[in-house]
Amino acid sequence: MSNRLPPEMLRRLRNEIPITLVIAEFLKLPTKVSEGNFRFLCPLCTEFITATNPKTNLGRCFLCEKNFNPIDMVMVVKQIRMHYKTT
Ligand SMILES: [Zn+2]
Repeated sequence: MSNRLPPEMLRRLRNEIPITLVIAEFLKLPTKVSEGNFRFLCPLCTEFITATNPKTNLGRCFLCEKNFNPIDMVMVVKQIRMHYKTT
């Protein structure tokens, strides 16, 4: 299997899969809902100072000042997990 996803698939992944589903079901990151916001444990700083925006389909960490779309999120978490496995 090729490691590269076809652009059409990437576009669909980016736009059609809710960021909350990617975080909770696919990556199984710790999550919580507070003040009506779906929050996730930021894979970079491991803080819950985050929010998700269903309109833009982005997750944001206010501490890292970073936005994650579903693809960014998968890549970041994959890289971190690989790093922990090999060290
Ligand atoms: Zn963060």
